[in-house]
Amino acid sequence: MEGEAGLPLPCPWQQPTSHIQEKQLMKEKILIVEDNPLNMRLLEMVLSAKNYTLLKTTNGEEALDMAMRERPDFIIMDIQLPKMNGLEVARKLRETLAFSHTPIIAITAYAMKGDKERVIESGCDAYLSKPINTRELPGMIAEMLLQRRKDNPSTNRNE
Ligand code: MN
Repeated sequence: MEGEAGLPLPCPWQQPTSHIQEKQLMKEKILIVEDNPLNMRLLEMVLSAKNYTLLKTTNGEEALDMAMRERPDFIIMDIQLPKMNGLEVARKLRETLAFSHTPIIAITAYAMKGDKERVIESGCDAYLSKPINTRELPGMIAEMLLQRRKDNPSTNRNE
């Protein structure tokens, strides 16, 4: 099979997220943990355009409670948080079977040496430094959610 200019079509796994796949992700619950109001508003704006169900909290303790109660499909976790820092929350979530594989993106204000190692050690899957790249984030989340579904079809809400 060949594309328009006689070039081979990209492999299926390289094709961009299709409209249908994006629609399937509409029901996904995303927990945003962020104590900076401006950053929270930014994340909310970017993600509400994608029709996810958004859950929000500004501190680590509540993030843990909310996660246990609401079972989000995806978590965006600021690291510097009141009460319990984001890495500690991530570590505790990973100890729970229900959250052993939930995608978590950590966000930090200061990119410091050793940050990446600490983030990965805590169990987070990915790491972003502020200012958040609002162009990249939605695609990154969609990809991680779809990958999670492929790895574990039983989490598919549309079944
Ligand atoms: Mn913070």
